[in-house]
Amino acid sequence: MNKRTNADIDPAPGRTLLAVFAHPDDETFGVGGTLALYSRKGVSVHLVCATLGEVGTVSNEKMRGFSTIAELRETELRCAAAHLGLASVHLLGYRDSGMPGTADNRHPNALMAAPLEEVTARITHLIRGLRPQVVLTFDPIGGYRHPDHITIHRATVEAFQAASDPDRYPDGLPAFRPDRLYLSTFSRPFMRVVVKGLELLGQDVHHSGRNADIDLADIASVNFPVHARVKIRSVAKVKATASECHSSQMDLTTSRLLGLLSRLGAGTETFTRAFPPPPPGLREADLFQGLDASYIQAGST
Ligand SMILES: [Zn+2]
Repeated sequence: MNKRTNADIDPAPGRTLLAVFAHPDDETFGVGGTLALYSRKGVSVHLVCATLGEVGTVSNEKMRGFSTIAELRETELRCAAAHLGLASVHLLGYRDSGMPGTADNRHPNALMAAPLEEVTARITHLIRGLRPQVVLTFDPIGGYRHPDHITIHRATVEAFQAASDPDRYPDGLPAFRPDRLYLSTFSRPFMRVVVKGLELLGQDVHHSGRNADIDLADIASVNFPVHARVKIRSVAKVKATASECHSSQMDLTTSRLLGLLSRLGAGTETFTRAFPPPPPGLREADLFQGLDASYIQAGST
């Protein structure tokens, strides 16, 4: 298998990556190293963020100077985007739906209450406008079963296909077919080590996270193959600085969990390749691997 490191990643100018996520902080805690790495390699890296994380719990101290959680979290997002080197941030303006079974699920502007076709149409429009070769989003369970993450996964998978079909969601822009779709996911053997580690630390692995609503043992049992491992050691400090921007979302439990994950993750962010279908045993180190410059030029004009 190809043993490329990120020293070998040398994208040609004109390369574009679009990351589609649900809340401020998804772009940093999950794939911040990958986004920072590619922006430093000259790739134009864009972000779609569907909500402003209005349901995140925030201490009174962090709210000082802000009138709403949305305002605070948008400021945190802009801070992280600047550190990661993002070329643009596109807010879809939905409201955070909260975790399953909460009253926020039924808010009229909640992302999970929006028609999926409407969310898909908006992402399709952005794909046609930005013309990325590579699109990134959540895995089918949204990492940890957050309903907004799952909605964005479904809408992005649909939009990835629809963008190249001029008859679907016509918006006046020419159809465009991105080359690749990747889903951010944790390697399951790695997750199982994390679960064991947390158990040894005396944590309840069925009720993790700041709101005790994440079942890590359950997540570790759902298998998603890892096809791409992006080494992010060279930008680990950038990811850490961008994470600090989201300080309203970092409490002791979160920082301990993130600390453990990043130490055990050995400076790698992992992805399942959803499109094109991966050949058996595929192991990539670069999301643009094999997309040569002339092909990209032909595809983006
Ligand atoms: Zn999120």
